[in-house]
Amino acid sequence: MVFGTGVLRLPTSGSVLKPHDETAHKATMKQIFFMGLGLMVPLVLLAGILYAVWHAARSLYDDWRLGRELVELRADARLRREQRREENARRLDNGCDHDFTTRQLNFPPHVCPHCGMAQEKPAGDCDHVWRRGDEDYASSICTKCGKTYRPSDAEHLSR
Ligand SMILES: [Zn+2]
Ligand SMILES: [Zn+2]
Repeated sequence: MVFGTGVLRLPTSGSVLKPHDETAHKATMKQIFFMGLGLMVPLVLLAGILYAVWHAARSLYDDWRLGRELVELRADARLRREQRREENARRLDNGCDHDFTTRQLNFPPHVCPHCGMAQEKPAGDCDHVWRRGDEDYASSICTKCGKTYRPSDAEHLSR
């Protein structure tokens, strides 16, 4: 017996691809183009808005940060000033009733005539303590580093 009658045949796909219609194809392309354009416009607008918002936020943030840095800097400066003042007060605490207003002719300006210390710590390594020079009264000498100060020289230099 032959069972050839019932040979199973795979169903051939019925949808045969039709050759593309040129005009239909063009129309589709056009549609895609305009659809793309229609999508692009809001996208570009959205990007623009997002950029503007980002930019504004960024400059606001920068302003805020700058302001905060300024406040911190001011606080830092105030703290340093305060520390310097305290340090100076400790430095000048030597039991002398300082007088920084009376100018001794042979001392540098703002030096106490009683103890020879300057009102503010001078620049440099030595916190000079001045005393009257030995050889002539028109000069002073630092008891710590031996530096000589002559008001006439200083006035000459500042001129
Ligand atoms: Zn003094
Ligand atoms: Zn000195």
